Amino acid sequence: MTRVTSQQLLKSINQQKVLHLIFAEGPISRVELADKTGLTQQTVTNIVNRLLLEDIVIEGTPGASSGGRKPVPLTINVANMFAIGIELAGKYVQGALHNFRYDLVGEARRPVDRYVNEDHIIATVCEVIDELLQLVPERSRIKGIGLSIQGLVVSKQGIALRLPGFGWGRFPLQERLENRYDMPFYLENDVNLLAINENMNGSLRGSSNNITLKFDYGIGGAIVADNQLVTGSNFVAGEFGHYKAFTGANVYRCHCGGMGCLTTLASTSGLAMNAGLTLDEFAEGVRTGEPRMAELYETVVTALCLAVSNVVTFLNPDQVLMTGKLLESFGDLLIQVMDERIMANVPETCRGVRLNYMRQKPNEAALAAGLVLKRVFEVPVDSLSL
Ligand SMILES: [Zn+2]
Repeated sequence: MTRVTSQQLLKSINQQKVLHLIFAEGPISRVELADKTGLTQQTVTNIVNRLLLEDIVIEGTPGASSGGRKPVPLTINVANMFAIGIELAGKYVQGALHNFRYDLVGEARRPVDRYVNEDHIIATVCEVIDELLQLVPERSRIKGIGLSIQGLVVSKQGIALRLPGFGWGRFPLQERLENRYDMPFYLENDVNLLAINENMNGSLRGSSNNITLKFDYGIGGAIVADNQLVTGSNFVAGEFGHYKAFTGANVYRCHCGGMGCLTTLASTSGLAMNAGLTLDEFAEGVRTGEPRMAELYETVVTALCLAVSNVVTFLNPDQVLMTGKLLESFGDLLIQVMDERIMANVPETCRGVRLNYMRQKPNEAALAAGLVLKRVFEVPVDSLSL
């Protein structure tokens, strides 16, 4: 591994500071950049020259000046830089190509019945990436590829610990993909990614302590405490799907090795595995009042409400954001019951919590493309550290 000297690190931090400011505040002149970063004019000029040469930044028409040389406004070359986002899910791989203005340029998708092995997963992801690469004339215009993974991910190491619809392992996904494409890849768990986005730009903006929960093919969770994503000692904190939720006749063995986990009945994969039901069949049965379905629904909803209540009691968040196919299917029916029961369950001291519901599953490929933009423009000593 190449050793990064402190000199090189400083150079790269300075460049990122300039880049971040042009992205966040552009059009902006070199003089303003020097003022705001505290760097010398010469350092700013050197950095800007490099960015101009790489076509990352473009110069606009000089504005009015009170004397001397007119300031030249600098902006990011957003229409000519691209990011690919990939959603790696249990039953499909979805890809989206966005430019840096965030316009959608193209999409690609591959349905998957069942992943056979690690190579099969990589091959499917590559097929989607290859299709999207065709849409960009020069590969150097693509600044990175983000992956949203319904599974456990050690994002800083680029390793997946569990892949959706496949299983446990220690897959060096980032390394495998970077070797093939020679461009940066960024991996993140799907719920963490949603939490990052919602905390930075969405419904959780302004909240310092919150929980994001997704009831989908599996069940995932992300905890933000004091504006930091909680990773846990082993990078698997927030795994809400493995909350022990069922007892008695409703206990099933979970793929994690435990028993009675929330995901064994309250996720679409759990419903299929242990109740032999698709989500649509289940929702239809509940709507028509079929007794077996009604009973199962009550079991699932009771478990969900208790689990969320306990987590709220334990962590005292100011907001909880819930999403996923379960919410999409049951909508108001489920939301109303959750509101009532959770608020009744939690201690008065925790009742200030706001329960938010995102009924429609977010566009995860788009969020993954957004992760590339975040990484390209962030300053290394960034806050919400993810
Ligand atoms: Zn489990």
